[in-house]
Amino acid sequence: MRPILAVFFAVIVSCSAFAAEKPNIIIIFCDDLGYGDLGCYGSPMIRTPHLDRMAREGVRFTDFYVGASVCTPSRAALLTGRYPIRNGMCSNDRRVLFPDSKGGLPDSEITIAEGLQEAGYATMHVGKWHLGIHEGSRPTDQGFDHSFGIPYSNDMDPREGIRHREHAGRQDPPADGWNVPLLRDNEIVERPADQTTLTKRYTEESLKFIREQKEKEEPFFLYLAHTMPHVPLFVSEDFYGKSPAGRYGDVVQELDWSTGMILEALRETGLAENTLVVFTSDNGPWLVMNDEGGSAGPLREGKATTWEGGVRVPAIAWWPGTVEPGVTSIVATAMDLFSTSLSLGGAGLPDDRIIDGRDLSAFLRSGKLPPRKPVFFYHGRELYACRLGPWKAHFHTRPPFRAGGAKDHETPLLFHLPRDPSEKRLRPEDGVGIKALKEIYSAVSEHEATLKAMPQEVD
Ligand code: MG
Repeated sequence: MRPILAVFFAVIVSCSAFAAEKPNIIIIFCDDLGYGDLGCYGSPMIRTPHLDRMAREGVRFTDFYVGASVCTPSRAALLTGRYPIRNGMCSNDRRVLFPDSKGGLPDSEITIAEGLQEAGYATMHVGKWHLGIHEGSRPTDQGFDHSFGIPYSNDMDPREGIRHREHAGRQDPPADGWNVPLLRDNEIVERPADQTTLTKRYTEESLKFIREQKEKEEPFFLYLAHTMPHVPLFVSEDFYGKSPAGRYGDVVQELDWSTGMILEALRETGLAENTLVVFTSDNGPWLVMNDEGGSAGPLREGKATTWEGGVRVPAIAWWPGTVEPGVTSIVATAMDLFSTSLSLGGAGLPDDRIIDGRDLSAFLRSGKLPPRKPVFFYHGRELYACRLGPWKAHFHTRPPFRAGGAKDHETPLLFHLPRDPSEKRLRPEDGVGIKALKEIYSAVSEHEATLKAMPQEVD
């Protein structure tokens, strides 16, 4: 090789080696988006061309789970890589944080943002937080350099006389019906937040951050946790009345536009090939909202249950030039994004606590399958179900959002998910079923042996 070419080659190699060491990471986390709500997941009515393209260019997960079926514990699981039973963000009473809650994500927990910040990343939170409003729990206390968004769900803090269920499927929700504040770095900048422009403003904020980071040439972590499509549904004028799927469809189509803008900005700035973008949801669709809630597609039930519709969500990972485009049925979880992000960022994993997530970086880079790991599904602090390989066993079930109705299953309900994703055909108690249950029982006892009692943080 001629010397000049050799030098050129060495520069290319070292640049790409550096690039490979510290990719930017973007996690787009929707609120209550169902498994069946995107075109690439089979929605017949909601048009999502940008997400469909993202799925074609990236890897689309068919069996991706969240750490809990409602907002607060799901977010805690994503950001800490740990089941909420370990990080304290679960309760049998009020299952999520409310504006008057005293608790929040403990300061002692280590988040993706803290891990990456330590590894030299700029970190930004945009969108809904819902992990506490008190000192120690806020985004800027949990590893984010900056934060812009709302502190809890958009239906909390209702103004007198407002009951959003009454608006579901009927007239538009009143724009000033909720007194939810919009915060920048813990300071209120608008109250009530104008929810019709939230998706748009979150997108602008994210684009600004991406472009600034491009200028600074610093690796970055962006956690974009959309407020939508959580009820009450708000959409900007540009998307109003555009979807045959009604207001819910309009809202999801705006989220699709938002994701398209972010991917386009990465392409334009030349950052695409050094950025992993993951798009997913915090839990299944809020089915009791009828047309205002989404769809779990073929899956049973939705948000607030441990049936598949509550815990299995759409998930797309996009990293042009690195992630081999395709569809995968590996069982993965939002908690895996903790270990994966820290590994990609060159940050060590904490060794003083149990991390439930697995590092999927080798899978993303070269398709190497991760070791099989059971997935546990909790309702509050109770273990309700477990998936191991193709099998899922329910020890308890209950309907969503009702105080009573819990059922204990002395013989757990067993389903073979690849053959029966809708959990409709109970596996008979034959030799195969008994063997599967035995393995699940043993996974459960191993898991329970690792649990240490944690204080109840959500009240
Ligand atoms: Mg949610």
